[in-house]
Formats: sequence, structure tokens, C-alpha cells
Amino acid sequence: MNGGETLDFEIRPNPQPVAAAERSALMANPGFGRIFTDHMVTVRYADGKGWYDARVEARAPIPMDPASAVLHYAQEIFEGLKAYRTADGGVTMFRPDANAARFRASAQRLAMAPVPPRLFLDALDALIKVDREWVPTDAEGSLYLRPFQYASEVFLGVKPSSEYLFVVIASPVGNYFKGGVQPVSVWVSREYTRAAPGGTGAAKCGGNYAASLVAQAEAMEHGCDQVVFLDAAQQRYVEELGGMNVFFVFDDGSIATPPLTGTILPGITRESVMRLAADRGYKVREELYSYDQWRADAESGRLREAFACGTAAVITPIGTVRDHDGEFTVGDGKAGEVTMGLREQLVTIQRGTAPDPYGWVH
Ligand code: PMP
Repeated sequence: MNGGETLDFEIRPNPQPVAAAERSALMANPGFGRIFTDHMVTVRYADGKGWYDARVEARAPIPMDPASAVLHYAQEIFEGLKAYRTADGGVTMFRPDANAARFRASAQRLAMAPVPPRLFLDALDALIKVDREWVPTDAEGSLYLRPFQYASEVFLGVKPSSEYLFVVIASPVGNYFKGGVQPVSVWVSREYTRAAPGGTGAAKCGGNYAASLVAQAEAMEHGCDQVVFLDAAQQRYVEELGGMNVFFVFDDGSIATPPLTGTILPGITRESVMRLAADRGYKVREELYSYDQWRADAESGRLREAFACGTAAVITPIGTVRDHDGEFTVGDGKAGEVTMGLREQLVTIQRGTAPDPYGWVH
């Protein structure tokens, strides 16, 4: 199969879907990633055979041999994106083609058979079609889609698996910020790094997140919401947060974000924000920015705002920055004007309440 190829999905409706009343009750207060729709997509791969057996079926446990390669060597990748309900009752996704491309890049880094982008997109469409009642109708909610792929060959040798399972599940989610957008506090990890040059930092693989948990736990112990990672080589430059990219807003009307050097995830929100900011007239730079400079610029007032961005929270202002030696505040510690302007524009494009001159909405 090449990138444009796909399969026909066999639809096997869930014989026992959640009743409408129960579904409404669950969706009234969904939280994040705890409740799931009635169905899932599964597609199988085997060397020599390619991708086959594409299905939409009842969401259920997947039987797994204890010698499945993923359980031993973590050959696994995933994606995360959202589907939104539009005013006319339709359902849209934000830049799913970008997730398809990143999924393929992650597969290549992890030596996995890539899912053709057309098949990836068709899998999302097929699941949403069957589970569209699970896309929240309120203005804050969305359906979080989680495509993932893992090594399913039953073999303990360390080598790329010859078999894979590609799965898509979906989870209705509420507003990330209950009661309005709140600036987050971040903890700068001096002990742990996320990704080294030549490593898997630019891939969205489960192993990266396993390695970040201890740093995230340290952040929470210090009263912070998120961890900031510095570069592994020099422990000097800001890279990204545990699950978001980071931006800096300066007093001269410029905006900067760390460059994609191979150790950070190329966020789809990051790229969208860069486009929006440039079109709003800001000078956008991708450049290395040291933690020491961050502190100095916050103290001098040269740095006006900082924010994190990603699919889950869209754009999140950063208020307080803390490490073992103390803390500093960015701006007045509140959500800044530039941050909130970009956030508003991005959210309205995503939800279809503003025009989409970029062709981002599917
Ligand atoms: N960095 C990391 C480590 C992430 O997990 C995410 C979330 N996917 C992001 C950045 C933001 O990426 P995106 O905007 O594509 O959600």
C-alpha cells in the first residue's frame, strides 16, 4: 500500500450500545479520557500481507499473548486529536491530515510499518460516523480521538515486529479549564530530561511518556501543574512541556518558540499558532531560548507572556516558573492579551464559529 491507499471497513455494530439516557448522563461531566464510545476501529498488518481486516466493532478488551513484542520492547506509537460538533449539527476534525503525517513519521522512527495516511483518515471518519452521538453538543466539549499502533508479533527477539495492530478509540471530553482559562505553574526539571539528540523525542511513542512521568510527579510535588524539560546535551535550553509546546511573547511584538531539532514533538497546535501569529502581524521566530534567559527576560520585563499549546488545552498561559532554586513570574502572572487573542482565534476556527482561511477543518 502506498500513502493514498485504504481499505473498506467492515461495520459490526455493538449489539449492546450504551442507552441514550445513560450516555447523556455520562457526557454531562466527562472529565478527560475516562469514558469511551461504543465502538473502536481495528486494522491488522502482517509482513508480506500488508494492512488487512479493517473493522469498526464493539469497543472491547483486545486479547494479547504475553509474548507480544509491545509488552517487552515498547514498539508503540499514538496520536491525539479532537472532533467538534458544529452549529449545524455536523462534526469536524482539526487538521487530521497533520496527525496522519506525524503518525507515519513516528512509525518510521520506531521501525514500524506505517499506516497509509488515507487509511488513517478513513479510520477516523468511519469511527465518528458510527459513534457520532458521542460527539458533545455543548460549546465546550469535544470527542478526543486516540489512534494508536503497536507491535503484536508473538516473539521475544529484539527486532522490528512483523505484525501490528492499528486501533482507534474515542472519548468524549469536557472543557480542560473548568471556570475559565487559568494560567498554569510549571516546574523546570534539572534532574530529568525527555529526549536526547538522536533519540525518539520527535516521535509520539509511549516510551517517551513513560520516561516523563517521574519528572511530572516531581512537578506536582512542588505544587506545579506541568513539567518543563531542558535540552539533554547542555541542560540549558527550554524544549517543551510534558505534553505541550511552549511559546514566548516579547515586548517588541515578537514571538519565539524552540526550533524542531529532533528532540521535541512537532506539535500541530504549535505549527498552527505560528501561522496565526505571523498573520496577525507578530514576528515569529524559531530559536533556542535558555532557561537563564527566560528568567532574566521575565525579570527585566522584556518577556511579556509565555504560553503552552497542544491539542488537550489548546493554549494555556504560563504564570509561574519554579525550580529547586526558587521561582519567577511571567508578566503579571495572569493570562496575557496576546495569548488570549491567539487562543480565541484558534478555538473559533476549530469549532467552526469563525471562518477557516487555512483549510484546517476537515
Ligand atoms: N509535546 C508533547 C510532548 C505532546 O505530547 C504534545 C501533545 N500531542 C504536544 C507537544 C502538542 O502537540 P499537538 O499540538 O499536536 O497536540
